[in-house]
Amino acid sequence: MYITYKYGFKFHEVAGTLLWYHLVGGHLWIFSGALQQPPRWIEAGGLVDVKTSTGQFVARGYYNPRTDIAIRILTHSIEEPIDIEFLRRHICSAMELRHVLDVTQTNMYRLIHAEGDGLPGLVVDRYADILVAQIHTAGMEHLQPLLVDALMTETGAHGLLLRNDGQARRREGLEVEEPLAVAGEVPEQIAVRENGVQFLVDPWQGQKTGFFIDQRDKRQAMRKYAQGKRVLNCFSYTGGFSVYAALSSPTTSVTSVDISAAAIEKAQQHFALNNLDPDAHRFVVADVFDYLEQAQSMEEQFDVVILDPPAFAKTQGARAQALKAYRRLNMLGMQVVRPGGMLLTCSCSGVVGLDDLLGFLSQAAQRLHRSVQLLEVYTHSVDHPVNLAMPETAYLKAVFCRVG
Ligand code: SAH
Repeated sequence: MYITYKYGFKFHEVAGTLLWYHLVGGHLWIFSGALQQPPRWIEAGGLVDVKTSTGQFVARGYYNPRTDIAIRILTHSIEEPIDIEFLRRHICSAMELRHVLDVTQTNMYRLIHAEGDGLPGLVVDRYADILVAQIHTAGMEHLQPLLVDALMTETGAHGLLLRNDGQARRREGLEVEEPLAVAGEVPEQIAVRENGVQFLVDPWQGQKTGFFIDQRDKRQAMRKYAQGKRVLNCFSYTGGFSVYAALSSPTTSVTSVDISAAAIEKAQQHFALNNLDPDAHRFVVADVFDYLEQAQSMEEQFDVVILDPPAFAKTQGARAQALKAYRRLNMLGMQVVRPGGMLLTCSCSGVVGLDDLLGFLSQAAQRLHRSVQLLEVYTHSVDHPVNLAMPETAYLKAVFCRVG
């Protein structure tokens, strides 16, 4: 099936040269200010060819007159139509990359990571035989029928659930929808494993697509620090880090704290699923900030503290406020680490960099007269590839350190 390109339009003369390098370097976004005459008449999500002011073909992508990112590029080749074969090629390339994961140990991973896999606006997570997709842009929404077909045939999945329930869709002019099974059967719970640890994922109602699969390698790294220790897992969600920590040794005790009662209940189930006695551990439904303040006032201390908060800033505009929250959190978290204990601190806000995160740690250390040794720094794992030309799409940072 072919979609034809009705429109071509040109870059702004001045911005053109800069943009040329930016795009030839592999960046996939063109901002509206760079276009000579942003064409208001093209429908949101329509396919376009982009040319220089001298008429030279640059790239092909989809357009949205409503958003600052006016065009997201799909191909730099004039020969390449955006059709089902295009989608198949990208899906196969993404699958090939994930073959490095040992499926006997890990059968949940991100299959398509948007720009990182050359498919802007699309995230697909695989949970055993089920795919859960999120479409973030109008352009990708237009491709949805082809996409469903290509994903089902290439992956051999048994079902595909669309989780188009993110509020960010409104910016693109898209509806926020109820989860919808668009192919095959999608159960309420999917039994999965990650590094050999068992979990039950709820693709219909779980946060994001059901699980925070981007922490897989950090959870694995945590095992060695948790053996026989008192561990505090803040923002535990369904207990990903908690189960790994508890499995590291029968003498480890884990406290999991999350504001969501449903998540904490699921965390308890995950302990039982992995033959751990939930009664030997603590599960707390609370605001982490309140919990940490209270723990500090009671002079409670832990050997290992994990801080994996939600994204406090989703946009540049929210950054200043978010920095305050991260600063406060890292300070509160460090206060309850016993001298010589471990701290794992994370940020999944794209607008907060690794330098910011290290800054929170050093500010907290100075104020609390503690010393910090950096041990391990992580970003994403192999199933969350980042396009080198688009460092701004890297969002996750995680730092393991020892606090003296
Ligand atoms: N570490 C988790 C993922 C954390 S996601 C994992 O490995 O799976 C962020 C979690 O923070 C969500 O479960 C959300 O319910 C919780 N949350 C958000 N704000 C909170 C707050 N103020 N206090 C406690 N939990 C909070």
